[in-house]
Amino acid sequence: MPFGSQIAPSYWEKSSFLKDRDVIIVGSGIVGLTAAIEVKKRRPDWSVLVIERGTLPSGASTKNAGFACIGSPSELLLDAKEMGWEPVLQLIKQRWEGLMALRKLVGDKGLQFQPTGGYELFVPEQEDLFERCTETIIDLNKNLEFAGPNYFMPEGNPNSLGLSKFAHVIYSPHEGSIHPGSMMQALLKICRSLDIDILTGFNVEGMEESANDVTVHSGSMKVSGRLALLATNAFAKELISSLDVRPARNQVLLTSKIPNLALQGTFHHDHGFLYFRNLDGRVLIGGARNHFKKEESTKEFGNTGAIMQYLTSFLKTHVLPDTHFEVEHQWSGILGLGGDKSPITQWSSDRIFTACRLSGIGVAIGTSIGQSAATQILSR
Ligand SMILES: Cc1cc2nc3c(=O)[nH]c(=O)nc-3n(C[C@H](O)[C@H](O)[C@H](O)COP(=O)(O)OP(=O)(O)OC[C@H]3O[C@@H](n4cnc5c(N)ncnc54)[C@H](O)[C@@H]3O)c2cc1C
Repeated sequence: MPFGSQIAPSYWEKSSFLKDRDVIIVGSGIVGLTAAIEVKKRRPDWSVLVIERGTLPSGASTKNAGFACIGSPSELLLDAKEMGWEPVLQLIKQRWEGLMALRKLVGDKGLQFQPTGGYELFVPEQEDLFERCTETIIDLNKNLEFAGPNYFMPEGNPNSLGLSKFAHVIYSPHEGSIHPGSMMQALLKICRSLDIDILTGFNVEGMEESANDVTVHSGSMKVSGRLALLATNAFAKELISSLDVRPARNQVLLTSKIPNLALQGTFHHDHGFLYFRNLDGRVLIGGARNHFKKEESTKEFGNTGAIMQYLTSFLKTHVLPDTHFEVEHQWSGILGLGGDKSPITQWSSDRIFTACRLSGIGVAIGTSIGQSAATQILSR
């Protein structure tokens, strides 16, 4: 039986749900929604439509680990090796500003923000790396004074945090955690309050630009706007093949409840590739895609035995030694990566602006990118 976009729309649907818009935003992740909100706040008279192919947002924004951070010292060191320090410092600033803008827009209650502090952990084999990080954070802290004093600082014994077999830790009092589902529900609520239309289950298959507008279509459904924003992150290449963005899967697992779990804070390890935190008395752990590069270079959601085993073994060695636990939930999300960590923000044609490739710290930078995409759209 035909369903959704396979059924020809009625006249009524064409002149309501599918009517012409000022702006069409493809993708209802953090970038798409914050851009829609910013456009509508500044131009309440504009008609704004957000299109999403999933029933829920189906990329990274509701699948992530909920770290409110700007990147761990060893991750920033690695990025600087690849991109140079200037762009990394610029990224850090955008991430911090994005977090502040997100907290202002949604509020800490809506985000379920918890100022837990963040930690980067080093094992004994990473002695050199730890030394380089402690040297680097002296300069980093000077550049991070806008966020507060002593952004990063080496701390005493990491294993006093209830952990095992770590040699060193660098602490940041400025970081914390959020609930990504709550964040996205709050953003959707703001969209509804501003009269922004949202169509879900609409998988945009193509975007065609004419002299006067852009038309996006899915099967027999199409809708046109004067301008469009492509905010589909990892999947952006499906619609504009020239974009330098590739997908990478990130897998996450959540343990059963651990009685008297001491762990508090957000924890990074291995250049930011591995992360864990306490979530309602359970441990959430994710990442490790750097050890499975080929398998995780995919836009297919799913969990693999190899990564689940890696994460479970890490938990047994370092986080929950001598503690019985079960894996109660597992899921995955898809990151948008590129040649470096900078997001793509550009006019891809006269009427289509692209804001994608948010890499691994997109909760932080997402609102900055969404709001600046809105500014571009409004200035056209
Ligand atoms: C497992 C995991 C853990 C992470 N942890 C953290 C963290 O702790 N802290 C942090 O700051 N960042 C984290 N991130 C990164 C962060 O979640 C992302 O960078 C950010 O959510 C990207 O937002 P976005 O709006 O650009 O993209 P997305 O959230 O991916 O949104 C893009 C949307 O576009 C839709 N879409 C795609 N193609 C189409 C189409 N053709 N038609 C219609 N709709 C379409 C998708 O369904 C999706 O909903 C993590 C990511 C993952 C995967």
